[in-house]
Amino acid sequence: MKIFALFGNPTGQSLSPLMHTAAYSKMGIDARYVPFCVENLEDAVRGIRGLNICGVSVTIPFKTTVMKYLDALDDSVLKIGAANTILNRDGRLTGHNTDWMGLTIALKESIEIEGKTFIILGAGGTARSTVYAILKEGGIPIVLNRTIEKGEKLAYEFGCEFYHIDDIGKIKADCLINTTPVGMIPDTEKSPIKNNILSNFRFVVDVIYNPLKTKLLRDAEKAGCTVLSGLGMFVYQGAEQIKIWTGMEPPREFMKQVVFERLNGN
Ligand code: NAP
Repeated sequence: MKIFALFGNPTGQSLSPLMHTAAYSKMGIDARYVPFCVENLEDAVRGIRGLNICGVSVTIPFKTTVMKYLDALDDSVLKIGAANTILNRDGRLTGHNTDWMGLTIALKESIEIEGKTFIILGAGGTARSTVYAILKEGGIPIVLNRTIEKGEKLAYEFGCEFYHIDDIGKIKADCLINTTPVGMIPDTEKSPIKNNILSNFRFVVDVIYNPLKTKLLRDAEKAGCTVLSGLGMFVYQGAEQIKIWTGMEPPREFMKQVVFERLNGN
């Protein structure tokens, strides 16, 4: 039996165990995916080797700090500055980032990226993955953040424009992507921006998937925009982890259905 794990703190709300367990069962892989609420990250990473855990998903707040405990990092991890995936190959631990891959796949299902402009709200870990993903596909990211220093640092590192979030009404773009946690459960009546500027965008994307339709997306739909929730990103980042760990193609639509049903309370 193969063991996979989730390292985070907290992990109680995560839908990764549900999604991964369903995927392995469908794929006929004898595996367990175990969530660990990690107290000491260095000891936990040592435990990957000690317990022969095949792969680990890394979530808040460890995506950046985990990097220093790994034996090797892929290029995307180095550029983004965060790892959400660990592969254990014979005791050698490699850090990967599948958040940007998940977002790229989800976006490309409904939006053309090349040559299009994208406003990225936020400058945290997910914003960094998003900017990386857009640039890799030939899009033009523009960073907007509440804290100027953090937003400027991200924009400088990736060579893109930066504006304060209050200036959003002055900027034209094809698509708006929210990477802030504003609107996430339980604050479902909050939106990171005022709804009167939403008609400036054709597409509005929220990386949040709980709720499936945030206030931002509800407002955007009313303003006539095409909207996309974070569900696809979430499912595809998990699917890419399974590919890295097993070398097999996971049942993406089935995984999406399982998560969708849980979020819909079915
Ligand atoms: P993070 O590193 O803490 O960054 C959060 C960013 O949001 C910061 O730039 C922060 O601005 C900004 N922010 C926070 N509260 C704000 C507010 N009230 N008004 C304006 N800006 C605000 O967080 P993260 O790890 O990037 O995660 C962000 C979101 O992405 C979470 O909701 C997470 O669940 C989601 N996510 C989804 C997926 C998926 O698969 N769908 C994957 C990863 C993450 P300051 O710099 O000013 O503090």
